[in-house]
Amino acid sequence: MIAENLKQVQQRIFKAAKRVGRDPAGVKLLAVTKEQSVLTVTEGIESGMHFLGENKVQEARDKIETLGRNSLEWHFIGRLQKNKVKFIFDLFDLIHSVDNLVLAEVIHEKAKSHGSCMPVLLQVNVSGETSKLGMKPTDVPKNIEMLSQLEGIKVKGFMTIAPYDSNPQNSREHYACLRVLRDTCSKLGLPGMDLGELSMGMSNDYEVAVEEGATLVRIGTGLFGPRPSKQKDASG
Ligand SMILES: *Cc1c(COP(=O)(O)O)cnc(C)c1O
Repeated sequence: MIAENLKQVQQRIFKAAKRVGRDPAGVKLLAVTKEQSVLTVTEGIESGMHFLGENKVQEARDKIETLGRNSLEWHFIGRLQKNKVKFIFDLFDLIHSVDNLVLAEVIHEKAKSHGSCMPVLLQVNVSGETSKLGMKPTDVPKNIEMLSQLEGIKVKGFMTIAPYDSNPQNSREHYACLRVLRDTCSKLGLPGMDLGELSMGMSNDYEVAVEEGATLVRIGTGLFGPRPSKQKDASG
């Protein structure tokens, strides 16, 4: 079933990219494996999943210790607590969720003492929903200028979470907004800064996100079915 879901999602990404004249190879599918067992994730990997996303450091650690990092990429997509930053260097290839400057500085400091540099995306709250994390769009250009000076992090682009809406077309304005913000920041011409990545789109609206320029779509339910915590809700 997972293999079949994967094929369908890949096909839809392919078609969405073609509709707007994009190269489908420019869209990476991040399989969101949070709450899924090692067995389920293994099935996903055997079906061809390559980019895996987790939102809790401890849960990710348990899986990565078993499944390894060889030929896989693990991405962190959740709220990152400062006291967990020390673990990320041995676990993740990309952090999608840097949503404030203090966190960015903590990552930079720890990276320096670790002798490395962490690729990150800046999480932006484009919808302005108070429940959502992320930088204010108007703060992003000045923030990125500051962050470009920290050698312990490398900003590769942006991430956003659109408000859930049963009509995926309603996500379009938010994703377009993130793309425009990216283009604005690219024009700042900061040395060595390549803001190529746009992480946007989830199971309910990833095709719209691809049409608006997503390079990473984050899909859980569409690949694995409802998460265990959601299945409980459904039966009640
Ligand atoms: C859980 C999660 C997803 C995946 O959600 P689905 O609707 O199951 O595809 C994507 N992005 C983030 C940040 C998440 O926490």
